[in-house]
Amino acid sequence: MKTAIYPGTFDPITFGHLDIIERASGMFDKVIVMVARNSAKQPLFNTEERMKMIKEAVKKIKNVTVESYDGLLVEFARKKKATAIVRGLRAISDFEYEFQMALMNRKLANEITTVFLMPHEKYTYLNSSIVREISKMGGDVSGFVPVSVKRALRKKFK
Ligand code: ADP
Repeated sequence: MKTAIYPGTFDPITFGHLDIIERASGMFDKVIVMVARNSAKQPLFNTEERMKMIKEAVKKIKNVTVESYDGLLVEFARKKKATAIVRGLRAISDFEYEFQMALMNRKLANEITTVFLMPHEKYTYLNSSIVREISKMGGDVSGFVPVSVKRALRKKFK
């Protein structure tokens, strides 16, 4: 039984995140999407809102579950007996930070391997903060997020 953790802020979940989740779900027996609670990022959506949107978006993928955590990622991974951490790589700009995190996590837990997946190229420019920004200005985010997320964004910026 191979379990992978896909950690992130998901503020909110986008089609880019979903692309990575789908790819990971085909590679591992079980994928746990881990919503980071203690984000220094002051998220627009609280943890429960972010989890609800992810659950709705992944409900058709059988081996994917959603949980939240406010501690160290490798501790969560150990608790779940996961052997891999999945991260998405969009462009070289992601690399520096991801490389550092992956090596630090390896130092902390040598038995857990970070795996990088690339989304479809149409999602390489997509991130949650751009989606929030477009939505705030009244733009259409239909091409970037599921309908339920679009609705939740509209409500926030009403
Ligand atoms: P974090 O705050 O931990 O970076 P994010 O929710 O922004 O959390 O991202 C979680 C993971 O998903 C990261 O590995 C990030 O690189 C990846 N990711 C975000 N957007 C995309 C996208 N459009 N395509 C592929 N991967 C993505």
